[in-house]
Amino acid sequence: MRTRMSTRTHTTIAYVLFAAFSWAQVPATPAGAPASAPAPPDPIAPIVARLDLERYKATIKGLTQFGDRRQGTERNRQALDWVEAQLKSYGCTNTERIQYEYAPPAAGAGRGGRGNPANQSQTLGPGGARRRGIRQPESVNNDPLKQPDLKLRELNTPPSVPGQREEVFCTKVGDTHPEEMYIIAAHMDGIGWGEAANDDGSGTALVMEIARVLSSPDVHTDRSIRLALWNNEETGLNGARAYVAQRKDLQGKESPAGSGKYPEPKWLGMIQHDMMMFDHGMPHKDGTMSKDQRPEADVNIEYQVTSKFAEEAMQLARKFQFANEKYATDYPANIGPHMTNTDSTPFQDLVPALSLRESERGSQIGNGWDPHHHQPTDVFATFSDDDFRLGLNAAQTTLGAIAQLTGAKLTPVTSSREN
Ligand SMILES: [Zn+2]
Repeated sequence: MRTRMSTRTHTTIAYVLFAAFSWAQVPATPAGAPASAPAPPDPIAPIVARLDLERYKATIKGLTQFGDRRQGTERNRQALDWVEAQLKSYGCTNTERIQYEYAPPAAGAGRGGRGNPANQSQTLGPGGARRRGIRQPESVNNDPLKQPDLKLRELNTPPSVPGQREEVFCTKVGDTHPEEMYIIAAHMDGIGWGEAANDDGSGTALVMEIARVLSSPDVHTDRSIRLALWNNEETGLNGARAYVAQRKDLQGKESPAGSGKYPEPKWLGMIQHDMMMFDHGMPHKDGTMSKDQRPEADVNIEYQVTSKFAEEAMQLARKFQFANEKYATDYPANIGPHMTNTDSTPFQDLVPALSLRESERGSQIGNGWDPHHHQPTDVFATFSDDDFRLGLNAAQTTLGAIAQLTGAKLTPVTSSREN
C-alpha cells in the first residue's frame, strides 16, 4: 500500500515536471516525440577510455629494447620493423614506408639554434621563447663512457652510416571523407647513449597507442587520420622534411581516378608529440632537480606564432586544450606560441601545426628543465608512474581532440553485421 501510494505520488510529480518542462522549454516538440530524452552519451569518452597506462608503458619498454635507435644503424632499422609489426598487429594494416637519403653535413654545421653558444647566452630561446629564471646548460651527450650500463653501451656503439633511410606510417581511413586527414606523429630515432625512452619513445608510444585504439573494428571516423613515426628528427627533422617534399603536392588527389582512394589525403592539421613525460619544474639554484613529477605538471601545446597558419594553429590548440579538460584524467594542458625544434616545423607554413610536450621547448626544456634530454639517463628505469601518466594524459588529449575533429564514434561490430 505504501509502496503503491509512493509510486503514484512520484508518477504525478514526474508528470507535472514533464509537462512543465515540455511546455516551457520545448514548445516546438511535435506530439508523440520523446520530449525529455536524456542527452545522448558522449561517443568519444568510451574511445578515449581505451587508453591505458600499463599498455602505454609496455610500448615504451618495447621501444627501449633497441637502445637509442640512432638513425642510420641496424638498431634503428630493427626498431622501425618492430614499430611496423606492432601497428599491423593493432589492425593498422595499411602501413607504408617513405624512403630518402641521408648523409650528415660536414663537421661544424649543426641544427639551427641547438648548441649554439651565442643563442644560449641570449634572453630569447629557441623558437622565439623568452627565457626566465634559473637556467641549466642543454647539451647532447656523445661520450659512450657516460653510459654505465655496459650492455646498453655496447648496443649503442655501432655508428650511424650515411645512406638510405626509411620511416613508417599507417592510416585510419575516414568513412565519409577519406580525402582529408589529420597527421598524428612522433619521431622514433634518438641520441645520447641512453634508451631514448622519453625522447622520443614517449611520443612514439603515444602515437602507436592511439593507432591501436583507432584501429579497433568498432571505431569509425568520418575523416582520415595518419599515424606517422618520423626518422632522423635528431639530425635536423630530415625524415619529416622528406615526407613533406615527397607528398605535399599529392594532397587530395584520387588515385587511381574513380577508385575512392586517396594516397595522400588533404592535410587538415599536423600534431607532433616529442618528450611527453618529465615535468619536474625549474632546476634548483644548485643545479639539482626535484625527484618527483610536480603536482601542477601540464601538457604543453605549442604552435609557432610566426608561421603562415598561426591563427588557425592557435584555434586548433584551443580545441586540444578543451579536449584535455574533457578527457584527460590527471593533468591540464597549456598553450604557448613558440613551437620549435621538432617535426611539426616543416609543416607549419603548409597546414595548422602543433606540438605537444612535457614542457615548453624554448623557455623550459631550453632552460634545462629536463636533465635527461639527450643524456645516458634517458632510460625506462628513470621514470615513475607519475611521469608515464603525463604521457598518457597527452595521449588522452590528442585522441579526444582528434576523435572530435574527425567525427569518431563506436559502432558495435555485431549489430552492424546483422544490418
Ligand atoms: Zn625529440
